[in-house]
Formats: sequence, C-alpha cells, structure tokens
Amino acid sequence: MAVGRLRLKQRGYDFPPYRPPSEAYSLLLRVTRGCPWNKCLFCSMYKGIPFERRSLEEIKGDIEAAAHLYGEMARWAFIGDSNSLVVKTDLLLEILRYLYESFPHLERVTSYARAKTIAKKDLNELKELRRAGLVRLHVGLETGDAKTLNFIKKGATPEEMIEGGLKAKEAGFELSLYILLGIGGQQRWREHADGTGEVLNKIDPHFIRVRTLIPQPGSALFEMKNKGEFILPPPDLILEEERRIIASLEVTSQFLSDHISNYLPLNGKMPQDKNALLHSLDQELLRLRQDPSLLERYRRKELLRHL
Ligand code: SF4
Repeated sequence: MAVGRLRLKQRGYDFPPYRPPSEAYSLLLRVTRGCPWNKCLFCSMYKGIPFERRSLEEIKGDIEAAAHLYGEMARWAFIGDSNSLVVKTDLLLEILRYLYESFPHLERVTSYARAKTIAKKDLNELKELRRAGLVRLHVGLETGDAKTLNFIKKGATPEEMIEGGLKAKEAGFELSLYILLGIGGQQRWREHADGTGEVLNKIDPHFIRVRTLIPQPGSALFEMKNKGEFILPPPDLILEEERRIIASLEVTSQFLSDHISNYLPLNGKMPQDKNALLHSLDQELLRLRQDPSLLERYRRKELLRHL
C-alpha cells in the first residue's frame, strides 16, 4: 500500500522516522518515540529524540486518521520506534486489537525489538502478542563477537542475543536479524565474522538481513573514525567478511542483502543457495581486483546519509 504521507501529516499523524526496507509498503504507526537504550556507538537514528511512550489516546487517534483514508487498503503495518516491546503487554494488545479492527484486511503487524527486551519479557506474554497478530520482530544483532558488541555499547552479550532470538522463535514470531558489515573495523573483521556466524547458527532466524556500516554524523563512531580511532574496512574486505560469514552458516534462513548501504545485492534461501551466494561474492571480488575504479565507486557510499 502506498501510504499518502502528506494527507496523514495534514491530520497531525506522527510517523516513525525509520522502518526496515521490507516495510516500505506498510502502514507505519508510532507507539513510542525514540530509543529507550540510545547508546550504540554506530547509531545516530534517535539521538535528538527523548524516549517517550505515546498515550493510547494519541495512538488510537492516528489509527483512526489512517483508517479513514486507507482502511480498506492496508495489508501490513509496522509499529515504531526502535523497541515497541518495552510497552506494557496489555497496552500493546489493545493497540493490536484496534489495528486489526480498524483495518479489516490487515494480514500482519511487525515491530523492531531489542534482543534483551525479548529475553526479559515473559514467554506467555510474548505468545499472547503473537496470537494478537504481532507477526514479525526485526532485531539488530549487528555482530556475534563479544568484544565488538561490548565496544559498540550494544548492551547485550552474544548469549543474551541467542536467548532473545530463541525466545522470539519459541513464542512463534518470525525473526528478522540484522547484521552490520564492517562493525569490527579493520582489526576485528575476522572475529566479527566468526562470532556472527556462530550466533546466527545457534538462533537460525527466519531472515538474516545485511547492512554495511557507514558511520553517520551524530554517532560516536563517526567522530572516532574522523580521529583515526576506528578504521573502517575497505569495500573488498567488507565483501571478504560477508563471504566468511556466509561460508560459516548452517541455517535455514532467508539471507538478504537488500539495503542501500550494501555493495552487492544478495537474496538466497539457506542452505540450498549458499554456494550461489558465495559464487556471487567471489565474482564481485574478482571484478574488484580487475577494475580498481569499481573500488572507488564503492567508496562513494561512505557519503550516504540518513540511513
Ligand atoms: S541501534 Fe537500535 S538499540 Fe542501538 S541506539 Fe540505535 S535504535 Fe537504539
């Protein structure tokens, strides 16, 4: 559904500022504002937004405004901002009930969530949310390397990532895990790749989605990069890193590189497409060795903003 932002804005509708690429056609509903953690070194998304929970009245007002315009059209909905599961379960259940009631053709509702929040939430409450129509959780793993997770202040260990991921699956959610190529820097790219492969193998999420680190102004990592305290791996090393992760995978996930930050689009079902994915990466690495101007073109992605 192409949601007419302008017409909703005119009605005072409050949009979440970020959503996953796969939610491009979803109705976007803001349940909280900002990120309750807001400490990750690489993240600038919610830096100027104090965290707050929106009132049920405000949220229902937005649902009613959207239903008035798109009630018969909406099939998918995404609730933001960064970690909607921090909201009390009863309130989330009421929001889900109202969403499905207001949009009679709604098929799925999805949300961002932190692995640690999932790990802390009661399993029966998670199951209730799943039954109420919260279908998929988008979770930032970034890396499975303990030292890198600690360095980037992700606020979760590999063990907590695994606990949260497995619990989400046990509750019946589709789980989409995001990994961040380059986040180990030049120094820990191998450890980052190996740790990430290990955690992914233990969780076996439904989707593995790849993004490439492009430090953004406003993030601590951007400053560190400018001072030479963090060295971003060059594009060929990033592709080597991605190859190393895929080579280590023993999962049944859909593997997707579908974000504008990435050097090579990939989409394959594991394990049957593993060799094809590796072959695509080998071909791209060969092209890079044969054509240095390609490396320069790739480097221009470092200028991308508002990711
Ligand atoms: S990466 Fe996610 S958890 Fe970390 S600060 Fe950004 S929004 Fe919050």
